[in-house]
Amino acid sequence: MSRDLVVALSGGIGGAKLALGLSHVLAPENLVIIANTGDDFEHLGLSISPDIDTLTYTLAGLDNTTLGWGRRDETWSFMETLATIGGPTWFRLGDRDLALHVERTRRLRAGETLSAITDDVARHWGIGPRILPMSNDPVRTRVRAETGWLDFQDYFVGQQCRPVIDAIAFHGAEAATPHPDALAALASPRLKAVVICPSNPFISVEPILAVPGMRDAIAHCGVPVIAVSPIIGGKAVKGPTAKMMAELGLEVSAAGVAARYGALLTHYMLDHADAGAVVPQRTSVAQTLMTTLEDKIALAKAVLAVIG
Ligand code: GDP
Repeated sequence: MSRDLVVALSGGIGGAKLALGLSHVLAPENLVIIANTGDDFEHLGLSISPDIDTLTYTLAGLDNTTLGWGRRDETWSFMETLATIGGPTWFRLGDRDLALHVERTRRLRAGETLSAITDDVARHWGIGPRILPMSNDPVRTRVRAETGWLDFQDYFVGQQCRPVIDAIAFHGAEAATPHPDALAALASPRLKAVVICPSNPFISVEPILAVPGMRDAIAHCGVPVIAVSPIIGGKAVKGPTAKMMAELGLEVSAAGVAARYGALLTHYMLDHADAGAVVPQRTSVAQTLMTTLEDKIALAKAVLAVIG
């Protein structure tokens, strides 16, 4: 049996960029994306899965490239009307985006699993690779600030990551069952490599690793495990990765991310800007800033070239 299966671990925006690149280079049956669900939450009575949604919109070509998040061709009548009756507007839900959350919530309440719903949406929108929630059980990321523990979306969107944090927890992770298809992919004789996308290590990748069995399955998969640095030249491209590293007492650099993943990785992909970094894994250098589709495809090819 040939080794042709790549498993990618992804959060939302940074991860989805490389996942899109990989989807252009690999046959659909040869790519499984394990998505973080630690950002999931319930809002206005709806079940929202931000990272699954970002991956779904990106791989379906429906992502909003103007805003950098959410759906393409979005309109905001719902939000504007909600504001006129004093409803909560801190988390913005566009009209088209709303359809996905309403339908997901309806089906979850009817007893369906998050993964079955995610699969169905992907099929309707012509997505080839499998997008798998890390677990069908709820896991909720929380961060500890000076004022106490905060729900993730309160911190991330509500307070725009302003609070200084000193700890992160994944509520429910210990009791969560990893998605069986994720473990099966990681144990498959077809497995060629595991790619940790350039996602936030603390709030996008570590929730996946916190689901029992997931970290062990990757550590013992017996094939290359490569991460692409989300830090370029000492800065995050977007979001709070660098701020979190500083607050958690880590070196804010590509090498700091490599140290955090440690022995889980066999390989590490750095940007040219960090070419001199000393890391314990086998290191390769590429342009890792993905602005255009061509950048995403080129980085996916570079990653696949490294892992042979
Ligand atoms: P989120 O769940 O939406 O926050 O998305 P992720 O965790 O998947 O991505 C956030 C991380 O992606 C941040 O640390 C960014 O620095 C990183 N990132 C975003 N765009 C790029 C890019 O083009 N190249 C690289 N190397 N990292 C990126």
